Amino acid sequence: MLQLASGMGRLGTESAFEVLARAKALEAQGKSIISLSIGQPDFQTPGHIVEAAIKALKEGHHGYTPANGIPQVREAVAADLNKRHGVNVDPANVLIVPGGKVTMFFAILMFGEPGAEIVYPNPGFPIYESAIKFTGATPVPMPLLEKNGFGFKADDVLSLITPKTRLIIINSPANPTGGIVEKAEIDKLVAGLEKFPNVAIMSDEIYSEMLYDGKIHTSLLKYPQLADRLIMLDGWSKTYAMTGWRMGYSVWPKHLIEQATRLAINCHSCVNAAAQWAGVAALTGPKDEVAKMMKAFDERRRFVVGELNKLPGVSCINPYGAFYAFPNISGTGFKSKELEVKLLDEAGVASIAGTSFGAHGEGYIRISYANSIENIGEAMKRIGKWLDANR
Ligand code: PLP
Repeated sequence: MLQLASGMGRLGTESAFEVLARAKALEAQGKSIISLSIGQPDFQTPGHIVEAAIKALKEGHHGYTPANGIPQVREAVAADLNKRHGVNVDPANVLIVPGGKVTMFFAILMFGEPGAEIVYPNPGFPIYESAIKFTGATPVPMPLLEKNGFGFKADDVLSLITPKTRLIIINSPANPTGGIVEKAEIDKLVAGLEKFPNVAIMSDEIYSEMLYDGKIHTSLLKYPQLADRLIMLDGWSKTYAMTGWRMGYSVWPKHLIEQATRLAINCHSCVNAAAQWAGVAALTGPKDEVAKMMKAFDERRRFVVGELNKLPGVSCINPYGAFYAFPNISGTGFKSKELEVKLLDEAGVASIAGTSFGAHGEGYIRISYANSIENIGEAMKRIGKWLDANR
C-alpha cells in the first residue's frame, strides 16, 4: 500500500470546481442548468491584452523568464499599485505568480507548521483553511458575520491572537460574501497589531477594483508600519477577466521576497512568458473595457439582490464588492448543502453552499452574479418556483 504524506489527508478543495463539474455532467444529460456558482467574470479578456500575448509569442518570448517576473511587468505592477493606492511600492518587492492562489499558498507554507496558529476569514476563500491544515498549523477562524456586513471587527481579530499566532489572513472585498471592511476598522486593526510585532499579515486584495456604491478600497499597503510583515495579494484574474491566464502578483517585505522567489523557483520556475506581456498590456493599456464590465456587474448586483429578497425564506444584504451575493437562506428550512444540491438537481440552478467556505457559512448560499441579467432573472424564477413547491 502506498503511504502518502499526512498533509495530503488534510488538504481541502474548492467546491466551486466540483459544482461546476456536476453542472456540466447534468448539462451533458440534456438538463438546462444556469450557473451562478463559479467565481469568474463571464466576459472575454479585452482584445488589446490578447494581442499583446500574441505579439510576445510572435516576437519569440518562448523561454524561461526571471523567476520573479520580467522587469517590465513588475514595474507595471508597482506603478499601478502606486497610482491606485497612493503608495510607494518598489518593483523589487513584487513577485509575479501563476494566479493569486499561489501567493496564498506560498505565504501559508512560509509560516505554517505544527504548533503555529494562522487566523483566517470564515466564511472565506476555502483554500486558506485547506493550505493551513496542509502545513499542520492550526487554523483559527475569524468569524465574519452578517450583522457586521460580513466584515471583521478589529477587536475581534486582535482577540484571536495568541503567542502561537504567526499569520493573519484578511480579505476585503471578500469572497464569498461580497463584504468589505471600512477604513476605520482597518486603521484600528493596524494600530492594535503594533502590540504583536511577530505576527505577519496576508491581505488578499484580489477584488480591490470591484467596488460599488462609491465604496473605496483601503489597501494594507497604505500602512508603512506594516511594511516589514505584510504580504499583499492581487492579480489580473478578476479585474481583467483573465482567470485562465494564471497571472497574479504579490508584494512582499524585502526580507521575504527572496524566500518567496525561492519557493517560485522550486515550484514553477516562472510564469508563462507571453502571459506576462499580456499582464503589462492590461496594466498600462486602456481601461474602458474594465469600466464596462464593472458597470454590468453593478447592474446585476442591484438586480440579483432585489430578486433574492423577494424569494420566500430568503434575505440578502447589499454586497459592496466582488461579484457575489451571500443570501441568508435559514428561513427556507434547508441547510446550505442540502439547498445547493436540490437547487442544482431539481431547479437547474448552480449555487454554492455557504458551508463550502467554512462552518460560519451555514445558513447561506453563495450566488455569483457573473452571468447575464437574463440568466440571473431566469435562475431567480426557477428558485422561487422550487421554493414555493418544496418549502
Ligand atoms: N483570493 C480570492 C479571495 C479569490 O476569490 C480567488 C479566486 O476565486 C483568488 C484569491 C485566486 O485567484 P486566481 O484565480 O488569480 O488564483
